[in-house]
Amino acid sequence: MAESLLKFIEIAQEHPQKRAAGQRTADFQEIYQNYLLPNAAEQAARCSQCGVPFCQIHCPLHNNIPDWLKMTAEGRLEEAYEISSATNNMPEICGRICPQDRLCEGNCVIEKGFESVTIGSIERYITDTAWDQGWVQPPKPRQERDQSVGIVGAGPGGMAAAEELRRLGYQVVIYDRYDRVGGLLIYGIPSFKLEKEIVQRRADLLKEGGVRFELNFEVGRDASLQELRDRHAAVLIATGVYKARDAALPGVGLGNIIQSMTFLTASNRKGLGDAVPEFESGALDAKGKHVVVLGGGDTAMDCVRTAVRQGAKSVKCLYRRDLENMPGSMREVQHAQEEGVEFVWLTAPEAYLGDDVVRGVRAVRIRLGAPDATGRQTPEIVGGSAHEIKANLVIKALGFDPEDLPTLFGEPGLSVTGWGTVGIDFRSRMTNLDGVFAAGDIVRGASLVVWAVRDGRDAAASIHSHLQEKLADEPIEPDSSKNGGSNDKGKKKQTPGRRRVRQSVG
Ligand code: FAD
Ligand code: SF4
Ligand code: SF4
Repeated sequence: MAESLLKFIEIAQEHPQKRAAGQRTADFQEIYQNYLLPNAAEQAARCSQCGVPFCQIHCPLHNNIPDWLKMTAEGRLEEAYEISSATNNMPEICGRICPQDRLCEGNCVIEKGFESVTIGSIERYITDTAWDQGWVQPPKPRQERDQSVGIVGAGPGGMAAAEELRRLGYQVVIYDRYDRVGGLLIYGIPSFKLEKEIVQRRADLLKEGGVRFELNFEVGRDASLQELRDRHAAVLIATGVYKARDAALPGVGLGNIIQSMTFLTASNRKGLGDAVPEFESGALDAKGKHVVVLGGGDTAMDCVRTAVRQGAKSVKCLYRRDLENMPGSMREVQHAQEEGVEFVWLTAPEAYLGDDVVRGVRAVRIRLGAPDATGRQTPEIVGGSAHEIKANLVIKALGFDPEDLPTLFGEPGLSVTGWGTVGIDFRSRMTNLDGVFAAGDIVRGASLVVWAVRDGRDAAASIHSHLQEKLADEPIEPDSSKNGGSNDKGKKKQTPGRRRVRQSVG
């Protein structure tokens, strides 16, 4: 064991410096600074190099955390980066936005007595340094293949799959209905959690590595799924989930009651320098308004914190359960509280009030009753507790469901689950349609970036096996020079996406 490790008794946990709430709410920049090398090395040295590392087990990518912590503690950052990037296509992004308190850090064995190793911040530090030093390189295939793969969706699931497939030499085309690459990383998650340049440089890297992007291209409108199947040897569906859940309460048609993604997309577009008429007109701008956000997940946290930064007069988050039962990351709740958000726990909306535009929400108090079949306490309304909460803007952040993909894609045969997510075989990751795979939120339902990356990597490996099997099954073309002329017998019809491996060094 290196002497430089096991320092958790003498060195206290220290996160990178967090900007003061008053300062950070004045802009949309990330709230944490990066470590400097001495801090990163010192914090990495707190790791006790467990024989059975629970941090690694609970990381969805099973990142080799103890090894890259050891390398960092010893100042061997390039090796740390090699280890970290071997299992993760975007470590600097996961390091910033994974809910570490529920994943790696929440399971660090020193967490109980001494506070966990700051795994996420160190992961970010390693890869930000790698970018600065030029160690992050585009995918370079050792062998080009003629087979092409079409990916629908340029979110983290599609991006991770594209990188892995490109490394294997496939010709990769990503189709996305947005005008930018990144999915929710670019238009959902606000830049105070993840600055846009961090996502854009990943997109540029893929382009440099030969991945082709067809943006403003909506499958279902610009091509059917079948058309993509005809173009490519395999297709991956990584379209995420976007159908917003609604609270169909009385007064729902009033003005200034909007969905979370409408609000966040407008804010992100504004930050990216786009013209956003609904923002400029004030309709999607929280400035000077009393804002009420409904919901208790990560999306709700992003909405309340965005509203604060836009200059709202007051921001309240209404949630029908209590802090302990909130699905959002505790760290995000803490940031929001520091930034002046008021949490109204155990409260549910009953109606939207107003004549033309919303002026308030009628809400009722909730108590948590007996546990239901899942073990969660059932919310019960407290009689006579109705009261009005002032609101000039109500943002609904109640979760997302999948769109009806079979109809949207013009492919009624595509199998979906009872929740509307795309059904796959969990070993092969293939749908019921031959050569069509799926990954990310469209399979899991609304989840996390790290799970989308994991799914994208798994799908890429499955697509590779599938295409290799297909090639092995193809009949060998007869040598026409030996039988004196053309002979189509035994030849498989060749489409642009279904040709043989071309051995060449890239
Ligand atoms: P997405 O990122 O949704 O990407 C799907 C892409 O498919 C999009 O670009 C979309 O335009 C495209 N697409 C959809 N339909 C079509 C079509 N028909 N044709 C062409 N293209 C199409 N996770 C975390 O880990 N940490 C967080 O802090 C966090 N915060 C979040 C905050 C918000 C506001 C939201 C909404 C989610 C957050 N998440 C967070 C969840 C995370 O963003 C998602 O789990 C993740 O992005 C899913 O990746 P994906 O690739 O499956 O889908
Ligand atoms: Fe932790 Fe996420 Fe990094 Fe895994 S990817 S080590 S869960 S921060
Ligand atoms: Fe190190 Fe904590 Fe992981 Fe153990 S659980 S290897 S102490 S980071």
